[in-house]
Amino acid sequence: MKPYQQENISASTLYVVPSPIGNLEDITLRALSVLRNVDLIAAEDTRHTGFLLQHFAIKSRLFSLRDYNEQEKLGALLKRLGYGESIALVSDAGTPLINDPGYHLVRRCREAGIVVVPLPGACAAITALSAAGLPSNRFCYEGFLPVKRKARLDCLESLEKESRTLIFYESTHRLLVTLEDMITIFGRLRHIVLARELTKIWESIYGAPLGELLPWIQKDKMRRRGEIVLIVEGYSMPADFMSPKALHTLSLLLFEFPIKKAAALTAKIHGIKKNALYRYALEHQRKHNLVSKFTL
Ligand code: SAM
Repeated sequence: MKPYQQENISASTLYVVPSPIGNLEDITLRALSVLRNVDLIAAEDTRHTGFLLQHFAIKSRLFSLRDYNEQEKLGALLKRLGYGESIALVSDAGTPLINDPGYHLVRRCREAGIVVVPLPGACAAITALSAAGLPSNRFCYEGFLPVKRKARLDCLESLEKESRTLIFYESTHRLLVTLEDMITIFGRLRHIVLARELTKIWESIYGAPLGELLPWIQKDKMRRRGEIVLIVEGYSMPADFMSPKALHTLSLLLFEFPIKKAAALTAKIHGIKKNALYRYALEHQRKHNLVSKFTL
């Protein structure tokens, strides 16, 4: 990798700048340089970002851009970018647009041919995933689950067979009901990691099967305090799952071979455990009162 030093701030450019999710030292040198040198900072909460800027002695001008007023403020920001101003987009914590305002602005900039420069940086979902010890090669980010129970259950149901690792954001006061609903849909055995207060003094990362995590949290209120990311293991087939193709092979081989042999051959062909197939064949014969023409 070649070292590369950021060029000067470009005119008519929107910079998407992540901010720390707790520990102020997690801001990057490049983020500080951009925040210091842009013409304007569009911030989710100008007071909140004001503290961050003050901490780093940055004096750039602030402009409020919140979820509820984003559409309304777009025109003014696009006009400024059009006149040649450079703007940094920041949210209260982490990466803008990730459950934070900014999507409409970025979209309109790209449609208008305005350059959008993303800076890498803190994001609670990725920070939690990096320490969860669950598969991280394929994952899906789900953000917050719906607040209403029926919608939440529907959403979880749609994810029941999702094989990628699942990432959710959750609030302290909904954690228990969310875990109960996850148990209903995913079962007690599915592994989950609770990542709390990342990068802060009370950071804690605890993993367990869903059926064990819930009582562990119920035991102590402190265990559900603060900001929370949930990382849930993706769906995997039960070890003794037999595909319809494998069962078809087994049924054909049973006409020609004793159960043991038929199970062993099917296991070889489909790469599954022969004991499971053997048990299945026995059970199948018992249920349907079939008598093998072979002795076992
Ligand atoms: N844009 C942010 C990001 O990049 O992660 C997310 C903003 S979203 C409005 C806030 C949620 O992110 C919190 O309710 C929590 O679920 C999660 N979160 C933010 N900071 C966190 C932290 N330090 N530890 C754990 N979760 C955090």
